[in-house]
Order: sequence, then C-alpha cells, then structure tokens
Amino acid sequence: MKEESQVRALVERYPYMFKLSNTLDLYAGWLPPFVVLCDEIDALLAGRPFVFHFLQIKEKFGRFRVYFYLGLPTCEPSTAVAAQELAHCQAAIQQCVESVHAACASRCMVCGTSATLRRDGSLMLCLCDEHAKWSGQDSPWSSAKIRMDRPSPR
Ligand SMILES: [Zn+2]
Repeated sequence: MKEESQVRALVERYPYMFKLSNTLDLYAGWLPPFVVLCDEIDALLAGRPFVFHFLQIKEKFGRFRVYFYLGLPTCEPSTAVAAQELAHCQAAIQQCVESVHAACASRCMVCGTSATLRRDGSLMLCLCDEHAKWSGQDSPWSSAKIRMDRPSPR
C-alpha cells in the first residue's frame, strides 16, 4: 500500500512528532491533508525551542481528529515572553489543525474524493457515493486503515 510508505517517510522525516506509541490511527483518504499539516507544523516550529508531539490522530464519529502537545522544554526558563510566544505558536498550529479537520469533513476516508458524513445504524462514516455502498466484512475502517509497524526508536 503506497500510503504506508508515505506515512513511514513522514515519521522518518519528523520523528519528534510521532514519539507516542498509540498515536497513529490514519485513513488513506485523509492522508494528503495530514502530510501538509506536518510540513506546516514543522515550519511553524522552526527556530523555536518548543517541544511538540501528536497525542492522538484518529477517526471519531466519522471525523478526522488530531490532538497535539506543545510546550516549553524543561531546561527553558518559563518567562513571560516565552509564554507569550508559546501561546502564539499554539494558536497558529491549532488553526492549521482546524483547517485539516474541516478539509477532511468533505473527503472520503477511503479515497479522498468528495464525501459527506453518513449514518449507518450507530456508525458515522465520511464516505463518497461509491464507498458508501460497502457491505459485510469490508468496512471502510478496515479497508482504509493504514497499517503501520511502530518506527524503530532512534
Ligand atoms: Zn471514496
């Protein structure tokens, strides 16, 4: 699956973002905006001493959701200036995350084409017309889920 190698490359490029073991719950159709998000976050952090990593990346009620941690390293004195800059950076990253949440709300979680949120019994799924026809064992979660081995710690 080509998405798996894309994710592997992403983790190798930004290992600091993915240091938690249960972080990655990614779906193929939502991957492209997520890759862009990682580049944006890395650019926002450039030259700053902050600690950043993802807490959770997952599907929740048919929506793509990203949660992250941003803070000062323990060695850094927590001055008013540092706190202000941290708050500024936090807001900028949150804005990028929100725009990815919004973009993925209209992307099929399987293929990434135009989709709407659909209710199937108690399930909520964000699917295009084609993938909304799924049945039986081949659920969008299992078919679109990007299966990953944990990256080796470095
Ligand atoms: Zn689709």
